[in-house]
This record gives sequence, structure tokens and C-alpha cells, in this order.
Amino acid sequence: MSTHWDLEVDVAVAGGGACGVMAALRAAQDPDLVVAVFERSAREGCNAAISSGSLAAGGTRFQREAGIVDSPEQHASDILAASGDHEWAHVVRALCAVAPALVEWIADELGYPVEIGVDMPRAGMSVPRLHTDVGRLGGGRLMAHLRAALEALPNVAFVDEAPAVDLVVEDGAVTGLVVEQNGARQRVRAGAVVLATDGFAASPQLMAEHCNDLGDPFYGGVSTATGSAIPWLTDLGATFRNMGACLRSGLVVVGHGTRVSPALQFNGAVLVGTDGRRFVDEEAHGYSSMAAVLRAQPGERAAMVWDAEAMAATRHSEMMRDCLAAGAIRDLADLGSLAEALGVGETAAAEALEPIPGRRRLAAPYHLAWVTHGVLATQGGVVVDTTGRVLDAGGEPVPGLYAGGGTACGLAGPSSGGYSSGNGLLSAFGFGWIIGNHLAALESPRLAGVTRG
Ligand SMILES: Cc1cc2nc3c(=O)[nH]c(=O)nc-3n(C[C@H](O)[C@H](O)[C@H](O)COP(=O)(O)OP(=O)(O)OC[C@H]3O[C@@H](n4cnc5c(N)ncnc54)[C@H](O)[C@@H]3O)c2cc1C
Repeated sequence: MSTHWDLEVDVAVAGGGACGVMAALRAAQDPDLVVAVFERSAREGCNAAISSGSLAAGGTRFQREAGIVDSPEQHASDILAASGDHEWAHVVRALCAVAPALVEWIADELGYPVEIGVDMPRAGMSVPRLHTDVGRLGGGRLMAHLRAALEALPNVAFVDEAPAVDLVVEDGAVTGLVVEQNGARQRVRAGAVVLATDGFAASPQLMAEHCNDLGDPFYGGVSTATGSAIPWLTDLGATFRNMGACLRSGLVVVGHGTRVSPALQFNGAVLVGTDGRRFVDEEAHGYSSMAAVLRAQPGERAAMVWDAEAMAATRHSEMMRDCLAAGAIRDLADLGSLAEALGVGETAAAEALEPIPGRRRLAAPYHLAWVTHGVLATQGGVVVDTTGRVLDAGGEPVPGLYAGGGTACGLAGPSSGGYSSGNGLLSAFGFGWIIGNHLAALESPRLAGVTRG
């Protein structure tokens, strides 16, 4: 057993994205705790910062003020209906239970401009429950706000360009983290280590091992999501669940990599295949399950077609603004030009636009984007309990070790089709909230090791 330490803190967080920053913010509510966040590269970024920043929460004051009746229980039951993963229901319920408090805290205590997205319908969501920023600038704005709040705290250090490279384990307990700074390794002693390094979608090897059935999708996440915690957790004997599930998107614009808004299909947009035919009920799929539908199409693509009314309902989202800025959307004046863009005759184009009974008929002028499938983030991960403690193969907590966000098993269930909109940040901020609160509330969370006494 080595006794050499370069640094000693109470809480060492690996990863300064959604989960890590929230865990640090909440742990640091206890002014006696010294918290350090070791971030691999803020320059390369975290998925939270390139996300849409949509926060799913059931039962918030924002919903009540908009007359929406919802609850954590209803939220959990929607997620479980989509995922079918009833073995994981205790975790889903624990995260849904804290979601309203954390969204309201971000708004009311941290001063972030939050609104309920009444115009953000999603498949499987029984009521509007995605919360977003006023102005719809997305996750970059949110993460900048949260990191600024963190920097203002005297008992937290955010150490950038300092990747975690290993855990320190003594007698089966995690007692610290090994980080690399300026090419040198440093051993950081910590009462608790929080793994918040996200999933592994940026690792071609791990994707080939666990998600080979997804083919060769466009990757729309950050370069840092390489699953660096997986070998450390494996060495500890931790177990993993649902490693084949991902947050996919069937709305990635071919040749641009931007995504069209998932609300388009609830505003009448239709998908037309390369053969000029409609092939799916667009409202029956979330964007993650739509990825598999698109992958099965000839050329693994289809044309999303919508009109001015659908455009007006969605154009203020950060996704549509990105598409417009990238020149990813074609404007087509009439049925003739739409038919030409689809490569079919006008009669076939008119047939493709024929609405499903009960749905709205699109009207010229039209907009069109060719969309394909992509992977944004993985959803499988390590097994934790409802406090975010990493469990060993016997189901016992590994002393001193916590994990959340994309490092932990997510809420999609065994396959990507089970992903509900907002699950990613729910798991990341939710576990960050739970772990940070837990550490701040402990009687003696000092260097002796928080979960050993
Ligand atoms: C394009 C896109 C849009 C999305 N939109 C939404 C949305 O609107 N709503 C939603 O709920 N979810 C969304 N998601 C999913 C969501 O962004 C992720 O689920 C969430 O960010 C995961 O949080 P995290 O804290 O685990 O990881 P991240 O937010 O990715 O943070 C992980 C951090 O760990 C760092 N890191 C990695 N390895 C190490 C290491 N070895 N040492 C130190 N640091 C390390 C990374 O650099 C990064 O800063 C979206 C994802 C993408 C890609």
C-alpha cells in the first residue's frame, strides 16, 4: 500500500460535464468540504455543452404555472413504458423524484432563465415536461452558467486539462484518483471519488464491442466520451448493464451533421424514402427509435418534408437555427420542385404527402432536409444504487466510489429505442444532485473515507 499523495481533498470528481459539475455544486454546499473537479479538456468539451439543454422533469412549478398536471411518478412511468426496464425502476424513480427540485434550483438559486417547453412535444411524453432556456440557446449556455457558479465557490477547484487516468484502491476501497497534469501523474487522496466521465460513444473499439449492430452511424457527440472509467470499474469487479443502448438520432441532416427539431414530426412533417414513398408513422417514434427505422431504409436516409406552419413552430429551437445557419434546409416553392428534389413525379410526391387520417395536410411552399441516423451518446454503464454508489459484483457498494451520468447505466433500457427525450441530462444532473447532496449531508465526509465508517 502506497502512502504517497500529491494532493488531498474531500471529494474528487473526474469529469466536469453535467454530472460532475452538479455533484461538485451540491457537495460544496457544505463549506467544510474541499472539492476538486478534474476535467480532461474543457476545450474539447462535454456532451452537455453541445446538447439541446432540454431538462425533463415532472411536477415543476413551471408546469403548474402553465396548467400542466404532472408528477415524478408519471414521469417515471412514461420512461419505464418506453424502456421496459423494470429492473431499473428504482433508479428511474429516484432520478424523477429529484428532477423538479434540481430544475427549480438551477432557475431560482442559480438564476438561469428556465421555461417549460410547451411547444416541445416528444413521443412517449404524456404531457409537456421538457424545460429549456428562455431564448433556446441550448446546453452551451447552461454549462457556462453552471461552471461560472462553481468557480464562484471558495471550496471548489476546477482543474482543466487534467484527465483522470486511474483510481487508487486500497483494501477494496477507493481512496483516491490518479490524474495527469502537464504530462506528470499525480495521486489525489479523496474521501469520495465521483466518476462523471460520460459514456464511450467516441471510442470506436468500445462501440464495435458493444454496439456493433448500429452499423456505421454518424457520431454527433464530443471526442472526450471515450469510456475511460470502464477499465478501472472492470478491475474493481463492478458490473455493467445495457451496454448496447445508445441515445441515437434519426434526425441528423446528411452532409451537415446538424439535427432537425424532433418537434417537426408533431407539426405535420413527413418522411419520404429514396423511392419516393412514405414508410413510417412519424409521430410513433422518438428520435432515438427513429434512427433504427432510417437505418433500415435504402441508402439509410430519407427526406424530411415540412411546411411554413411547421417551420414557424420549430424555427426558434437551437437545432433549427443550426440547420438554417449551415444551409442544411432546402426551400421548395411548390409540389413540382418538391417532386424534383425527391426524384419522383408530381403524382408520387402528392401521394407521399397524403396525411395519415386525423393529421394536418402540408401546404406549399415546402422545406426539405435529407436525414440519416446517428449516435449522440451511449446509455449503458456501471451498476449503481439510488445514491449513485458503485456496486460490486455482489451488489455491495464499493467504499468511496460514486458514478453518474453517462458513466452509469442510463434509463433507456436494453435498446436505443427505449430512450425517452431528456433521459441523458436527467441521469447526469439527477445523479450529480443526489451524490453531491449525499456527500454534503454526511456526518464526517473527511479524508477518512466517507463510506467506510
Ligand atoms: C448533440 C447532443 C444533444 C443532446 N441533447 C440532450 C438534451 O437536450 N437533453 C438531454 O437530457 N440529453 C441530451 N443529450 C445527452 C446529454 O448531453 C448527455 O447524456 C449528458 O451530457 C451526459 O452527462 P455526463 O456528465 O455524463 O457527460 P458530459 O456532459 O459529456 O461530461 C463528461 C465530462 O467528462 C470529461 N472527461 C471524460 N473523460 C475524462 C477523464 N478521463 N478525466 C477527466 N475528465 C474526463 C469530458 O471532457 C466531459 O467534460 C444530448 C447529447 C448530444 C451529443
